Amino acid sequence: MKKYDLIVIGGGLSGVAAAVCASRQGASVLLVERNGSLGGAMSNCSVYPFMWYSVKTESGENRELSDGIFKEMCNRHKALTDGTNGYQPEFFKFVLDDMVCESGVDVLFHTQLIDVMKDKRTLKSVRLAGKEGVYDAEADFFIDATGDGDLLFYSGCEFQLGREKDYLCQPMTTCFRLCNIDTKAFEDDKKRLEALYSEKRASGEIKNPRENILTFLGIGDGIVHFNTTRIIKRDPTSSIDISRAEIEARRQVLEMYKFLRENSESCKNATLISIAPEIGVRESRKLKGVYILTADDLKNCVDFEDSIALGNYHIDIHNPEGTGTYIHWFAPHEYYRIPYRSLLPKETDNLLVAGRCLSATHEAHSAVRIMPICACLGEAAGVAAAVSLKTTKNAHTVNIAKVQDIIIKNGGQIH
Ligand SMILES: Cc1cc2nc3c(=O)[nH]c(=O)nc-3n(C[C@H](O)[C@H](O)[C@H](O)COP(=O)(O)OP(=O)(O)OC[C@H]3O[C@@H](n4cnc5c(N)ncnc54)[C@H](O)[C@@H]3O)c2cc1C
Repeated sequence: MKKYDLIVIGGGLSGVAAAVCASRQGASVLLVERNGSLGGAMSNCSVYPFMWYSVKTESGENRELSDGIFKEMCNRHKALTDGTNGYQPEFFKFVLDDMVCESGVDVLFHTQLIDVMKDKRTLKSVRLAGKEGVYDAEADFFIDATGDGDLLFYSGCEFQLGREKDYLCQPMTTCFRLCNIDTKAFEDDKKRLEALYSEKRASGEIKNPRENILTFLGIGDGIVHFNTTRIIKRDPTSSIDISRAEIEARRQVLEMYKFLRENSESCKNATLISIAPEIGVRESRKLKGVYILTADDLKNCVDFEDSIALGNYHIDIHNPEGTGTYIHWFAPHEYYRIPYRSLLPKETDNLLVAGRCLSATHEAHSAVRIMPICACLGEAAGVAAAVSLKTTKNAHTVNIAKVQDIIIKNGGQIH
């Protein structure tokens, strides 16, 4: 295999953004994904919808904060669906395929990162496992967009698993979808159903520890998307734990399906049309990088000089121990910034992280982990990699003003 300028591991929104942005800046890029399509949690875990990313300006207008390549993804999706049927998540698979192909990124599907080769502070190659066996791929620069931080872990970078006091991660959830539901009647009946669900949970008849039934409409007529299973106290980076979690969560899917069919007129004909192929992981390994973003940074809207992305999604912690969700809302006009240093490991010179495995506390992470922000973090990592490759090849000495300049030229926002 040829040597690349950049290898990106993980084909979620952050990985695609990183790969495409770096390639457009002239880098030769290999994107490695263990599954068979791009989109990450959106494709593999049926995560839906995009959580909000806009603020109200003084004049009362909406200002979108996640622009740049994320906006391009949304615009391409709209063009492909003719905007007629609203938001169709499956169409993002076409969009992302097109974007990597058009920008000249080489993609390896069904290929998993299993190790790295390192010389002091420099990563030399990644060890990949595919159908042909195990082999090494070399590059000058690397980006970890695996969500779980596999690359930073194999590279020996410091990380935090879950929350600081006991390593417990936010719960995992298997999303699923039911069709043949009278959605208007379902919404009208929701309060009664929630009360009944609580009673059955209190009596032990329902085992799911989640406090309510979390649903979203908008995928199609008569279809309800459920983000409501809850697996607690399992480590998403342990194969045995995540295997048990998959089975437990599917039991909760069946439990909810039966509960709804038996107790709601609106769901009496409901059909289970999809269970996400993989359980969704909200939180696992987070880099302990040059800067660890905190909840106070978000609440105080700290104006980082090296800001590379913005957000105003709330601090949203699904209880790692059981029932309940902690929320801190930001005011409609408030927004926070994310610094470049939160993508930068201390221990290596030619590695950046992007997306969910960024360097943030448990609390701050719960806000900045949403898909629009992850895409922007990927864009920043990709641009920074490309700028580094043209100069020092060192992520610690990259000209951050130049990186910010390119992000802004691409339509992104940093201040
Ligand atoms: C249940 C749940 C509900 C959520 N709800 C919302 C929501 O409503 N709205 C919202 O905006 N966000 C939501 N989120 C958050 C959001 O989906 C994720 O935080 C975000 O998608 C992370 O993007 P990413 O690119 O960092 O990682 P991912 O999307 O996780 O992508 C990582 C990719 O890396 C690949 N990979 C991993 N390890 C390896 C390896 N070793 N080798 C090769 N490839 C590898 C994976 O297959 C995957 O494709 C939710 C998350 C969960 C789990």
